[in-house]
Amino acid sequence: MAAFSHENAMLVGMTLPFARPEISALPPYVPGATAAAGSGPPVKLSSNESPFGPLPSVVGAMGAGLATVHLYPDMFATTLTGRIAQRLAVEPDQVVVAGGSVAVLAHLLQAYCSVGDEVVFAWRSFEAYPILTRLVGATVVAIGLDSDLRHDVTAMAAAVTPRTRVVLLCSPNNPTGPALRRTDFEAFMAAVPRTVLVVLDEAYVEFVRDPEVVDGLAALAAHPNLVLLRTFSKAYGLAGLRVGYAVGGAEVVAPIRACVTPFSVSSLAQAAAVASLDVEDELFARVDRVVAERARLTAALEDLGWNLTDAQGNFVWLDVGEDALGLAAHLRAQPRPILVRPFGGEGVRITVGDVVNTDLLVEALARWPGGH
Ligand SMILES: *Cc1c(COP(=O)(O)O)cnc(C)c1O
Repeated sequence: MAAFSHENAMLVGMTLPFARPEISALPPYVPGATAAAGSGPPVKLSSNESPFGPLPSVVGAMGAGLATVHLYPDMFATTLTGRIAQRLAVEPDQVVVAGGSVAVLAHLLQAYCSVGDEVVFAWRSFEAYPILTRLVGATVVAIGLDSDLRHDVTAMAAAVTPRTRVVLLCSPNNPTGPALRRTDFEAFMAAVPRTVLVVLDEAYVEFVRDPEVVDGLAALAAHPNLVLLRTFSKAYGLAGLRVGYAVGGAEVVAPIRACVTPFSVSSLAQAAAVASLDVEDELFARVDRVVAERARLTAALEDLGWNLTDAQGNFVWLDVGEDALGLAAHLRAQPRPILVRPFGGEGVRITVGDVVNTDLLVEALARWPGGH
């Protein structure tokens, strides 16, 4: 291919600077629906957010920080990084904090992938994965889930080639729900070369109750090519503040730290995350409430004839195929509109909220005339 020249570009009629071709070819990231036309206040179950507002002490910590927002935040989020490390019993140089775990993943891919490198992940999984992979010019290798909508780790390991730099494992898998079992994880790790970086995205780890599921933290010591992604957005209820982190071996995470946009975690976000670590007991009691609602919701849906996947996150997956958009429209048309996340032709992901959310949802699904 000839090198770019402005003369040639203008000869073929180009009149404006143009971005890399990968950019215009990106699939759009579809955020969960936020507003609806119905009469009552909407029930937002479309983005896997916490149903609970921030705890008073967390609001207080942010309030105290307001007086100093004319100053730049601590670029390395030193206090927060230290507190996370202490909490996880690792060293601070094993932790990298950035503006949400999606940003951490973007930096990780920047650090490890160039054009033509391959990134393997399961599909359907988190919709940020193909976007972030293509943003760095790397090639998407998407491996279908198995019949239980779990990662097919055998097929994923078989898809690793000399061009594979990164494998993304999502546990629990967004949007289908199951988490990765320890036996599957260990079989996978044994089958891939140690020069492949394996990322275990544990955004929903606090909601897992299946004892067979891999504990990423416990697995780190045995696997130097493993990095975990964790977030304050889900169990800690700070989605609006954007704080997430990676944990792994110091040498493996250092290149990620080098890619983090300077000062991208605001001082208020750092303060709120530290304050949240101080009140984990209260936050985890809330997680328990969501897990209890998950059990109540899945039991009620099974009574209605739904055949559900194993939901280990704060969401359930309704495998309705071609009815996905119709079901989302049905829920949106309720007296209190219920907002969910449909994946056209595949299914609908619904966030588990509080008791009222569950009751409204079960009533609305009992009125659904379509298939299960
Ligand atoms: C919600 C979610 C995240 C968290 O993203 P943040 O950028 O930390 O808000 C990461 N991975 C998955 C699979 C998620 O569903």
